[in-house]
Amino acid sequence: MDFEFEQLPSWTVRPEEEQEKEIFQPQWNCFCCRDTGKVQPELVRRVIKSYNYDKDRIPMCQNCNEGQTRWAHLNELGVIDQRLTFQICKKLDLMSREDWKQTVSAWFEMARLRVSKETSEIAQEHNLRRRDRISEEFILAKEKHGKARGDWEVVKEDEEEVQE
Ligand SMILES: [Zn+2]
Repeated sequence: MDFEFEQLPSWTVRPEEEQEKEIFQPQWNCFCCRDTGKVQPELVRRVIKSYNYDKDRIPMCQNCNEGQTRWAHLNELGVIDQRLTFQICKKLDLMSREDWKQTVSAWFEMARLRVSKETSEIAQEHNLRRRDRISEEFILAKEKHGKARGDWEVVKEDEEEVQE
């Protein structure tokens, strides 16, 4: 049997924060339309209170080029709403960025709490196990001690303190 293994490089854990940032920080360039060219419905409702996603014209993003590229050609069909100007879209973009910042920091806080809770649970479990082990050792030591004296069976719990 050949006990040689194909070697793998060591793989260091990246700082947790860095990983999470990567996962939870949205990668959109435009927070108004998330690079779809359509203003996000919850953002549209800031401007058009009764906006109905299923029935109403598509509010085209004018904060970035995606709206122009993807949707402007449908304007003639009467399905596009271009009333959300660059200024409005810019403002929605900034608002959404701020929302995300808060969402992400709330998430970090939650993750931090979860980690510290789990850490303390692990520590507690470890202590319990340690306590179990100590009491096992104590019982063993007691038995040995008793056996050495040849009378371990008659050792009573309440005499424990005076045994030594
Ligand atoms: Zn956009």
